[in-house]
Amino acid sequence: MSNIVYGDKNVAVPHHVHFGKYLLENLKKEKSNIALINAENGEKLTYKEFTQYAVNLANKLMKLGIGRGDVVAVGSEKRNYLGPTLVAILLTGAAYTAYDLQTGKSALAHKLTVAQPNYFIMSESFWERYSKLLLSFDAIKSFFTLDIEPKSAISIQLLVKDDIDIDTFEPAEVDGENDVAIILYSSGTTGLPKGVLLTHLNSIVNVVPYSLDLNVINTIYTCGEWYHNYDTFSAYKFLCLGKTVVYLCDVTSEKILKCIDQYKINMAMLIPYFIVGLGKVLDSKKYNLDSLKIIYSRSAPLHNKTIENIKQRFPGVQEIFQGYGMTECGELSSEIWGTKGAKPGSVGMASPGLVLKISDPKTGKTLGPNERGEIRSSGRVLMNGYIRIDRDTYLDEDGFLKTGDLGYYDEDKYFYIVDRIKDILCYNGDQVPPLELETILELHPGVLEAAVVGKDDEVHGDIPTAFVVRQADSNVTEEELINYVAAEVPPFMHLAGGVKFITKLPRNPRGKILRRELKNLLNK
Ligand code: AMP
Repeated sequence: MSNIVYGDKNVAVPHHVHFGKYLLENLKKEKSNIALINAENGEKLTYKEFTQYAVNLANKLMKLGIGRGDVVAVGSEKRNYLGPTLVAILLTGAAYTAYDLQTGKSALAHKLTVAQPNYFIMSESFWERYSKLLLSFDAIKSFFTLDIEPKSAISIQLLVKDDIDIDTFEPAEVDGENDVAIILYSSGTTGLPKGVLLTHLNSIVNVVPYSLDLNVINTIYTCGEWYHNYDTFSAYKFLCLGKTVVYLCDVTSEKILKCIDQYKINMAMLIPYFIVGLGKVLDSKKYNLDSLKIIYSRSAPLHNKTIENIKQRFPGVQEIFQGYGMTECGELSSEIWGTKGAKPGSVGMASPGLVLKISDPKTGKTLGPNERGEIRSSGRVLMNGYIRIDRDTYLDEDGFLKTGDLGYYDEDKYFYIVDRIKDILCYNGDQVPPLELETILELHPGVLEAAVVGKDDEVHGDIPTAFVVRQADSNVTEEELINYVAAEVPPFMHLAGGVKFITKLPRNPRGKILRRELKNLLNK
């Protein structure tokens, strides 16, 4: 097929295709280093402790009858032992899914209905918050507690007490190409979250090491959300290489700087929301950031203005790489794979094992370089499907996932994201990408952050309207911003709906703007 873009086809996947085994084999190679640090309380977990805990727990869970076909959920605030708990669940042959304490009760009820876990490992705080809901859920056969309470649950601390020989331990057999290893949830910024089924094979491809010289990279920072694809897979990617992974529980940009200083972080895996924040920390000079060499950004667009600002403020940072990823197929592209270095505004080249194309979203026709259309993806990392959703609704006739992202690639096969297709406004029949207007607005010195949504109108369609958070010391007016944008874009992209000033943009825990909430405000 022409106009199909391939990432490296030679992804090295071990023949047994068992994600649990793959992790254990790699983790046990590292004998002395620290695997995880919870920077919130300073607690450390060595590789030795990590692997021993994983094997001890897996052995006991298997003895309790947990195995292939089961779904084991983990509900907890962040902590080091979640790392080996995931590995233990995979070693039993069961599938892993996870929830944190920020999940709303109705969202959790929805996710439980979707994933149908039959075993639940939780922290005391998780139990305190959700016990009523969990008890009403008939599919759960047994509860396990990571702490002391509730007494009625099986104690994980007791289960992991007896040390098992790591080298002779036999994990359960799995069918790695078909068995589900991990169930994650799509972001749900536009609808109810969908359950994403990732096989063992998908998961292994997700942790393929980057083609970087990692000798100088020993300590990595990640946001450490054990229920999100970016954080989870980047943590295991680096754990498989014997690096130390550091995370915070209550993340702020200032705390990330402190963490970089204290733990001599070499590479920070962040989302743009925190990267923008790094550039705004007022007394950042009090932190020594000499160790930081690479910042990696994913999950949302990272503006060039932010990259320039960070490079200026933190001159020791050698590279700021962007990646483009999604729960359904891991990392689609990354600047790390770029053959011509980083290109401004690009999210890099197709990742190993990925196959990408651009299609006309209406006709399905495959488009060529520099033609805008829907990014569609296929390959070994593509999920096994959404739970109980008809495949025809999200795959095209060639089996490519319709990502819902509008983008294009250039003559060097570097990809660019224009916007989410669903977010594109249609004003008087013309297409207006809100992201472009937001980027322009955020370049204004008086603007801290901005979101553009459409005000429903029977005659004109979606009238572009901006929500703006002013910089602390700014008095910028609506008129100034309307004129400023008008000078930059064609008339159909003007802010015809005006500018509304607010104190904070609604975002999900991953920093994504909740446009529905803004639209509701507007159309109330
Ligand atoms: P999630 O499944 O939560 O990881 O969200 C996936 C979505 O995030 C993608 O479909 C994109 O819309 C968006 N996204 C991820 N990375 C980027 C990026 N580098 N630039 C723009 N949007 C991105």
